[in-house]
Amino acid sequence: MFYKSTRNSEIKVTSAEAIAQGISKDGGLFVPSEIPSLTQEEIKSIGKMSYADRAFTVFSKYLTDFTDVEIRYCVDNAYTDKNFDTQNIAELKKLFDGAYVLELWHGPTCAFKDMALQILPYLLTTSAKKINLDKKVVILVATSGDTGKAALEGFRDVEGTSMIVFYPEDGVSAMQKKQMTTQEGSNVGVCAIKGNFDDAQNGVKKIFTDQKIAEKLASNGMMFSSANSINWGRLAPQIIYYVSSYAQLVENGDISMGEKINIVVPTGNFGNILAAYYAKHMGVPVNKLICASNANNVLTDFINTGVYDRNRHFYTTISPSMDILISSNLERLLYHICGENDSMIRDWFGKLAECGKYEVSDEVKKVLKDEFYAGCCDDDMTKECIKELFDKYSYTSDTHTAVAVKVYMDYVKATGDKTKTVIASTASPYKFSGAVLEAISGQKSEADEFTLVDMLAQRSELSVPTSIKALKDKDIRFAQSVEKTDMESFVMEALGISEN
Ligand SMILES: *Cc1c(COP(=O)(O)O)cnc(C)c1O
Repeated sequence: MFYKSTRNSEIKVTSAEAIAQGISKDGGLFVPSEIPSLTQEEIKSIGKMSYADRAFTVFSKYLTDFTDVEIRYCVDNAYTDKNFDTQNIAELKKLFDGAYVLELWHGPTCAFKDMALQILPYLLTTSAKKINLDKKVVILVATSGDTGKAALEGFRDVEGTSMIVFYPEDGVSAMQKKQMTTQEGSNVGVCAIKGNFDDAQNGVKKIFTDQKIAEKLASNGMMFSSANSINWGRLAPQIIYYVSSYAQLVENGDISMGEKINIVVPTGNFGNILAAYYAKHMGVPVNKLICASNANNVLTDFINTGVYDRNRHFYTTISPSMDILISSNLERLLYHICGENDSMIRDWFGKLAECGKYEVSDEVKKVLKDEFYAGCCDDDMTKECIKELFDKYSYTSDTHTAVAVKVYMDYVKATGDKTKTVIASTASPYKFSGAVLEAISGQKSEADEFTLVDMLAQRSELSVPTSIKALKDKDIRFAQSVEKTDMESFVMEALGISEN
């Protein structure tokens, strides 16, 4: 299997090259040349395996240039209860009749990003070895709050790598900020920018694809890569838990083999839901992929009308990890459903860069409607949903997960669909204690983030993750903040490369 660039189908690389590079030189994203399949027998047998073995099975289909020993090394080091607070790695729980939450936040930083970022350092260093890369890999990250911390934790003190993370100064929760600014490790740096997530992501993409900067790095023995979901090494691990959850439902007797399920995903950059799309096209029986957005509902409109228009107000919400108006991974989806027509992709994404808007063809619109359902909800509805889940089902949900549950409830009302449904739960409520507590108690509190954690712990039955508790005593290491136009100079200075 090869990986092609969405902007030039002629470019073909191995998975190791795709993972080491992060993004294609032409600005396109790497996609597999074909989506491999899983038979029903294979899916059934996955239900009896450990999570590491499930991961091994799925990776073997995508990382065809890796040896079995290499894949084993990656999955066994990442998916252990040393890194996750549950042996199952991803927990599947019944929420109410017909609906299950897939809790993806039992890793070290309490968000679903750990599912991929605990393994990415192993995939990346193995890839670098395989292609005889003798350069230091510099990983640039733009984060809406959770990727940053998960990437820092994954790559901390990993030999041959260094990492710089940019986050929007006023666009992350107090706990998210604390997690990042106190990060330990000798190879990491963190910087706030005066701007939103889209500014951070655009800045990082620009630095990545600048030929002059690439040459400067090369002459200093370095190269860039990415830990954002533009990197295939971030996406592939996310496919596993969708396959795994289906196999688990079969194993538990909740569904019969072959029975279709819906999958609901609270969506920002479109990485997580795209992984569900890959799982479906590998052979996991899926009825609808349900795309849930917050007030930044550019994807809701896109799926419903076929017009992508980012020229709209940017809302700062209580589900900040979804405060995004440019969803990078949509490019991969569109490449697949427009028949791998790279000139169409160049046209649409050229328009997006130029005027912030494009419209897809009628055939693509039809496929989007067949595969997806899209909905959105604002902060008030999110809080109502958190309260309902808490009061009715004794479930303490974070703000992002609540967006997904609310959109799912709207979907059921609108369609009457009784298909069993898996809802991706993407963060621990303790990362957003203030908003969750306010939703449950009806009162806003001015207490600091650790007092809020204690207050939430008193009300809910959920224990506080040890990594959150430990933050309290950590010193701030990274307090710097720059203009969005100064990201490049910050990077060069951090790497000790002179600008001239
Ligand atoms: C990143 C994130 C999302 C959005 O995921 P995408 O893959 O960017 O669509 C949703 N919820 C939480 C908690 C996140 O951290």
